[in-house]
Amino acid sequence: MQTNLTRTYRFHHQGRTVTVAPNRTTEAQNIDKDGNGYLKNDEIAFYYGLPEESKFGNNRENRLFENKFHLAGIPNPAKDGYRSFEDVEAGLKSLAKKYPEACELKVLGKTAEGRPIYALRVTADAKKDSSHKVGVVFKGLEHAREWSTAEVVFDSAAKTLEKYAAGEEDYVRRLESAELWFSPVVNADGLEYSRNVDNTWRKNRAPVDTVVNGARIFEVGVDINRNYGDGSELGNLIFRPLGDKPNHWQDDFENGNDAPWSPVYRGEFGGSEAETDALQRLELGNPNIRGVLSYHSFGESFVYPPGYHKGDVEHGDLFRRLGGKLVEAAGGDMELKTSCGLYPISGSGLDIQYINGIVGMLVEINDCFQPDPAVLSSTSERFHGANMTFVDELLKESKEGNLPERIVPDRYNMVK
Ligand SMILES: [Zn+2]
Repeated sequence: MQTNLTRTYRFHHQGRTVTVAPNRTTEAQNIDKDGNGYLKNDEIAFYYGLPEESKFGNNRENRLFENKFHLAGIPNPAKDGYRSFEDVEAGLKSLAKKYPEACELKVLGKTAEGRPIYALRVTADAKKDSSHKVGVVFKGLEHAREWSTAEVVFDSAAKTLEKYAAGEEDYVRRLESAELWFSPVVNADGLEYSRNVDNTWRKNRAPVDTVVNGARIFEVGVDINRNYGDGSELGNLIFRPLGDKPNHWQDDFENGNDAPWSPVYRGEFGGSEAETDALQRLELGNPNIRGVLSYHSFGESFVYPPGYHKGDVEHGDLFRRLGGKLVEAAGGDMELKTSCGLYPISGSGLDIQYINGIVGMLVEINDCFQPDPAVLSSTSERFHGANMTFVDELLKESKEGNLPERIVPDRYNMVK
């Protein structure tokens, strides 16, 4: 028998020596560059692409800590300080019960494992039609491991309702002119998997049965934020770059690909996933939706289109004006940048939103995926402020006629 099959690997974690879980042995073998069976922090950091030192928006210590739970094959105990999917579900139901005049709980779809994809619609006189108001969507946890994003979106819904019910002037004004949608957990199956099985999991949990490079592959999970696509010609180009062959991964780039085992697997076609389709139905199918903030972690930045190519969008000035206000509202210590960065990104929600005339931005929060729960209340406070600023600025820009023209793509043109 080969020694590398029976070998155990160890590393230092939470003040003691921990053994690598049997199903992570191959990973450990690749991490262990010097082959001594002990995984040093530098070896682990190198393997997972963690920077040599902590820097703004990226905490090396915290990220090493997260990856060590993955290697040990045990849940990150920080999960006890975060809401589970059931907690979010119960919380949304209780808000809907407590504030029936100002909100309504909707099920947008169902995940592969049968969990509802919820959104709470919040507006004044919620029992009446509000499709003439300016619609804004806040969503969290598209990526399974980004736990704090669900907290931020849930808390923002709760704060909005509380302050509206207390008669706070700004909130009464906002909810009279705007229809807000809060979807704290887009990827419910992924959240539960990352809480209980592998805290570094990113994708959804849909079974994948496909052919890649001629071979049949069974895998699990599609990256929801590489799966956006509205079925239009431009939408298809955003989902799959020009020249990219379907079901071949050698011609892909880092930020979205056709390899089902990759954490950024794009899926079969744009909107193939229940979660992506549900959110696109809400965002694209309702012509009053003018803005979307999608919460991710980590990196302390507001991100605007384009993502699928380098350069600027026609409404670049609008995004920079809005983005500047958001940075200020979130405490000032954040970056404002376009999504394309070093490499273009495919199938990203903000590009699909923008080509349909929606001001879509992504918010990267905190400096790791699962920060100490002690930071959650201040994080929620900061980004609730940003959310309300986003609503106010969209109302203002809408009144001044500066927002892009809304388009409803054929696939999501629903007769209501
Ligand atoms: Zn993310």
